[in-house]
Amino acid sequence: MSLIRDAEFRGLVMYRRDYRERDLLVQVLTDKYAAKMFMVRGAKKPRFKMQTAILPFTAASYVGQINPNGLSYLTTTKRTTLLQQISSDLVLQAYASYLLTLTAAAFDENTAMGRYFDLLETTLTKMNEGTDPQLLTNLVEIKLLGLFGVAPHLQDCVICHRRDLPLDYSETYGGLLCQNHWPLDSHRLHAQPKSVALMQGLARIMPEQLGKIDLQPRTKRELQRILDNIYQDQVGLQLKSKKYLDEMTRLPDWSQSNSNKPSESASTEND
Ligand SMILES: [Zn+2]
Repeated sequence: MSLIRDAEFRGLVMYRRDYRERDLLVQVLTDKYAAKMFMVRGAKKPRFKMQTAILPFTAASYVGQINPNGLSYLTTTKRTTLLQQISSDLVLQAYASYLLTLTAAAFDENTAMGRYFDLLETTLTKMNEGTDPQLLTNLVEIKLLGLFGVAPHLQDCVICHRRDLPLDYSETYGGLLCQNHWPLDSHRLHAQPKSVALMQGLARIMPEQLGKIDLQPRTKRELQRILDNIYQDQVGLQLKSKKYLDEMTRLPDWSQSNSNKPSESASTEND
């Protein structure tokens, strides 16, 4: 791939940091080139015209110069939407940062993300509108597994294909085992059948179909444990953003203030 001038692409701003006196480096997850680092000249000057397009947790359409190796440049932006609720809530920020870095990790730089970009954008939009952030995150975690070369068998029992018995996850068998076949793997995850059913449900739907579900905290915790095991042992991924998310969601104060927060409608900012 050679340098592309006037490239048009969509992007989700991951993070930014200082670069020289007046400039910023902005990491953007783009639909056509995956994660790219942009140098934005004059971004720290007051009244910089692209100010709203380079805030973290912003979705926008951009025009810029894409350099396959090294820094790229943003020229202008077309449509900008700040995910307001996410950017004003530390727990949601932690979920969104993890989802952005996890998805970025699944794609080599300069490759198109196709429908996975839409998946992520829809997921973050739903999260911004108040849908359960953990379930949305788990849904994406399940959908990305195939890109990491792990495709767990989740439809029914790996061995006999029964689905009418309680199911548990086996890392050894790379999928579900029915109760009759539990003796095959003493190291199966011993997860609640309810959590396994929840994982199967999330594997079948898209984020826009996820409504409000009443779940016991334990069912959600167990689902997270299953996915954490798969990502640690089978994918072998260790992201700083995941560690941070785990710390944030373990703090009782934060989860408390988050669950007590009234759900507010999405607020968007256009320019
Ligand atoms: Zn079986």
